[in-house]
Amino acid sequence: MKGKIVAATGNKHKIVEIERITKQFGLDVITKAEAGVPDLDVEENGTTFEENSKIKAEAIMLATGMPAIADDSGIEVDALDGAPGVYSARFSGEDATDESNNEKLLELLKDVPDENRGARFVSVITLCYPDGRTLVARGECPGAINRAPLGTNGFGYDPLFVPEGFERTYAQITAEEKNDISHRANALRKLKELLEKAE
Ligand code: IMP
Repeated sequence: MKGKIVAATGNKHKIVEIERITKQFGLDVITKAEAGVPDLDVEENGTTFEENSKIKAEAIMLATGMPAIADDSGIEVDALDGAPGVYSARFSGEDATDESNNEKLLELLKDVPDENRGARFVSVITLCYPDGRTLVARGECPGAINRAPLGTNGFGYDPLFVPEGFERTYAQITAEEKNDISHRANALRKLKELLEKAE
């Protein structure tokens, strides 16, 4: 299983994280631009993280004829029956920003007591091969939603999310700490197991 895989994400940081695992299996990660499909943007119209990551990986695999890897992630809040979930990026509308998403979440949870503020980040990574094999790796990180944003590291909902076992938010812990416990780190651990089995 040596060779190259195309990443659906353009996020350099994610590509480095993914390649740290896949390199161990002789798989180099290249960008959509390097694979000749710089403008291929796929509509994420699934209703689960699994569907959306597969939609992205499959479209790129079909367009390039090469193995392709995609991740889809978001946050599920218990008191909101799992919302925003797959709609995390666009929670506060088409022009959503991290700030407007965080404001909306805090407003919806303003009367929710501490014991009911549970949440989890989810990441699903899908690797699709041209021969039809598909590896799906899900990772989660349980925690709770804080009453106010804290910290400046990271992005998205990081300032509001306190991972289990910590008293600081994702935006206050170090990158090393986050890389150890995060939903994406857990999905990548799972992907490593699946690649080991597939060898
Ligand atoms: P995507 O899968 O990278 O498109 O992420 C979807 C959305 O989930 C992002 O826009 C963020 O709002 C949120 N999200 C995913 N992972 C993280 C994270 O590690 N920290 C904070 N927010 C995240």
